Amino acid sequence: LSHIDTARIPFRDHRWQAGPLLAVEAPVGATERVPNPAMPSDDVGEITWASPETVTAAAAAATPWQATPSERAAVLLKAADLYEAHFGEIFAILHREAGKTLLDAVAEIREAVDFLRYYAARADGAPPRGVFACISPWNFPLAIFTGQIAAALATGNAVLAKPAEQTPVLAWRAAQLLHEAGVPTTALQLLPGAGDVGAALTSCPQVKGVAFTGSTETAQIIHRSIAENLDPGTPLIAETGGLNAMIVDSTALPEQAVRAIVESAFQSAGQRCSALRCLYVQEDIAPHFLEMLTGAMDALRPGQPWELSTDLGPVIDAEAHDGIAAYVEAARKDGRLINQIEVPSEGHFIGPALIRVGGIEDLEREIFGPVLHVATFKATELDRVIDSINATGYGLTFGLQTRIDDRVQHVTERVEAGNLYVNRNQIGAIVGSQPFGGEGLSGTGPKAGGPLYCDRFRHHAHDGPVG
Ligand code: ADP
Repeated sequence: LSHIDTARIPFRDHRWQAGPLLAVEAPVGATERVPNPAMPSDDVGEITWASPETVTAAAAAATPWQATPSERAAVLLKAADLYEAHFGEIFAILHREAGKTLLDAVAEIREAVDFLRYYAARADGAPPRGVFACISPWNFPLAIFTGQIAAALATGNAVLAKPAEQTPVLAWRAAQLLHEAGVPTTALQLLPGAGDVGAALTSCPQVKGVAFTGSTETAQIIHRSIAENLDPGTPLIAETGGLNAMIVDSTALPEQAVRAIVESAFQSAGQRCSALRCLYVQEDIAPHFLEMLTGAMDALRPGQPWELSTDLGPVIDAEAHDGIAAYVEAARKDGRLINQIEVPSEGHFIGPALIRVGGIEDLEREIFGPVLHVATFKATELDRVIDSINATGYGLTFGLQTRIDDRVQHVTERVEAGNLYVNRNQIGAIVGSQPFGGEGLSGTGPKAGGPLYCDRFRHHAHDGPVG
């Protein structure tokens, strides 16, 4: 990548004018500037918001996609090609609107393209449910946004898509490319907005299914809204939070484990639902191991996302910044902060932090940023550690570093988590062969990018008449 001249990234100074993409004329909301979380002086552009009235008009105009399965597949494959053809522009928006580093941005575009191609291959003649609401988060503003929509469209549904309020420009550009590829506007409408637009969608009578990725709390609100307002049996496909742990025993290779931990906890500034939140280190190696870990943290380079040398960018906005900063400050006051590294003072940067805890039960909630908690355990306490990890009620990712084969077997059989990572970082999934998703408070399943995912978007005989 060293040949890339980052000062000449296309669209570095571009201002996008984004807004709802609708099949009908409809009232819209206010227009606001879209900020860059890494640089307060940069405007990414302007966004005109949708309002709850926009949702009503869009829902009335939504029509399931009238095309054969092979036509739908061809359009989604064309969209994948268009994403690749517009790599530079998407890349720039990922940097400037979402604060993604080079590595994160490249991986995310790749994943979005994989989703389009994978779900295209799953288009078949089964009946759609009708209109799907797709509500997506800001932390994977292209990949998750695209994955939900592609699954719903591949199966012939109409989509009302609501991206997160922090990343509307990327969603708008991606939806334009889907339209350019041949998705009719009646089959895909974009409704940029905040929770009020989301709430309008999940209580709108035309909506026959909801795909959601975001916090566990919002998933619970949506679950209630569906129960109160929509047809019985309306599916909610939810991917939510996690309190993810990793166990490092005294046989682990320390360099490998340290590297995996730093990547798992601090890549994307910890803003991944899969990120490592609570590390368990076996007591007898802990002093030396934590010295290595803090050394590796000190070597991290936070900075402007488009600089090649940057390891981690900002957190998404001022609210996220202030909440995480207050949490770390409280730990500092209690004497539990082991290490925190320096960051630029401009922009919403948080220095990666390491906080001592007694165990995962001390984590009251998911801190969605570069904050890692660490606890120690004795060899005899391994099963108790596993029990407390399971007792959080979440079950998204889990990591294990050991060289004992029996222990791999023992631990991975007992830990309740959707994705297990042994002797490697706790990052990523592979569309098609290693789908991603959690259990319990972490989500409803089926896993995104897996063979069962599309099935939830299809209408089944026991669901009653097609909506
Ligand atoms: P995060 O904490 O990651 O921002 P949220 O759950 O708040 O997670 O947001 C995920 C998505 O859910 C966003 O698109 C957000 O606007 C949307 N959302 C927030 N509140 C509601 C709601 N009451 N109903 C539907 N969607 C909502």
